[in-house]
Amino acid sequence: MVKIDVSLCVVCGGCIDLCPKISIKMVDDTVVVDPETCSGCNICVQVCPMNAPYVCDD
Ligand code: SF4
Ligand code: SF4
Repeated sequence: MVKIDVSLCVVCGGCIDLCPKISIKMVDDTVVVDPETCSGCNICVQVCPMNAPYVCDD
């Protein structure tokens, strides 16, 4: 799955709009990925201008 490094994320919303699984949500002004629905397609990793999303094997 993918996680978001909140120290890098500027909450631009780009990944939220482009995630095909609608797995990325804003929670308390922080961008989070739902591990239950994330397909690991890595689109968010590719589109983020801040390199905040990262692949995590947890
Ligand atoms: S890896 Fe794909 S499915 Fe998972 S959060 Fe990123 S864009 Fe969405
Ligand atoms: S595209 Fe990157 S900077 Fe923008 S909300 Fe997503 S993780 Fe944060």
